[in-house]
Amino acid sequence: EIRQRDIKTFYRYNREMDRVAQERLDLTRDLRRALENDQFELHYQPKVDLATGTVKGCEALIRWLHPVRGMLMPGQFISVAEQSQLIGPIGDWVLFQACRHLRQWQDAGLDLVQVSVNVSVDQFRLGDFTHKVRDALETHAIDPAALTLEITESVFSDESELLRRQINDLHALGVRLSLDDFGTGYSSLLYLQQYPFDEIKIDMGFVRRILDDPLNRNIVSMILGISQVLGADTVAEGVENTAVRDALLELGCHIGQGYYYSMPLEVEDFRWLLEKHSRLPLTPRPLGAAKD
Ligand code: C2E
Ligand code: MG
Ligand code: MG
Ligand code: MG
Repeated sequence: EIRQRDIKTFYRYNREMDRVAQERLDLTRDLRRALENDQFELHYQPKVDLATGTVKGCEALIRWLHPVRGMLMPGQFISVAEQSQLIGPIGDWVLFQACRHLRQWQDAGLDLVQVSVNVSVDQFRLGDFTHKVRDALETHAIDPAALTLEITESVFSDESELLRRQINDLHALGVRLSLDDFGTGYSSLLYLQQYPFDEIKIDMGFVRRILDDPLNRNIVSMILGISQVLGADTVAEGVENTAVRDALLELGCHIGQGYYYSMPLEVEDFRWLLEKHSRLPLTPRPLGAAKD
């Protein structure tokens, strides 16, 4: 029995679907022009030594300055980029831009050792990614060991030989490989053993709940143990206050990122931070950083 109300709900639902589909189409269209119109920007979030507050490196995070919608976060457009193959050229831009910035910082005598770049699994599927990485490093005279590529566990959902070969090629090239958002995806101990990861990033879901319950704390401790067995560094994402920092240090985690230390910063602000040589967090805090 179909009632009037169900019919209305159906049409409303349909309109909503149309709106979502239309929005994706619009975004795809706009995304095609975004690169040529120079609408992307990289922001940098420091990776911090938890014990001393010194900056050990940084993570490049993409933002899209959309002419009408304002600043869009990666969560709003990366999946659209992946589905439309645009992740290839966008990913290349990110890689080259991050290397270019690192070259500028090194030329200025700023002793930043590491830049991390997020890489989508789809970039591997395009096949020439290792070549692109080598090109970006050579063009900017960057030591491969200064570049870290962050890959999520979705890399394991596709066991293709192509993927495995590229990861091994990248490792042979000397860039660091980091497993992002660890604990939320497809990892098995077998995969971890087979792939040469230099770093594991504990997903912020675990980090932020570290004080809430003992189970969660034990999971973080276990991740640190796995990481140690693999000889990888461990980085905690989403460190938002001193209590979490202290708990991490107690468990033996030494590197972290999060709003407690700094939001992701525009390149000028991040450079200013490097020039100051100061420890984080700054007081007074920069640019809307979260309160403790
Ligand atoms: P991710 O690589 O795990 O990056 C961490 C995200 O957490 C960033 O969000 C960062 O701004 C945010 N974050 C950092 N500290 C804190 C904190 O203390 N609390 C909370 N609540 N959040 C914090 P963002 O910039 O929106 O990036 C989201 C995701 O988009 C990234 O997750 C990454 O997977 C992806 N992404 C970012 N840039 C790129 C890129 O250039 N290429 C690709 N393929 N993906 C990217
Ligand atoms: Mg990341
Ligand atoms: Mg992450
Ligand atoms: Mg994440």
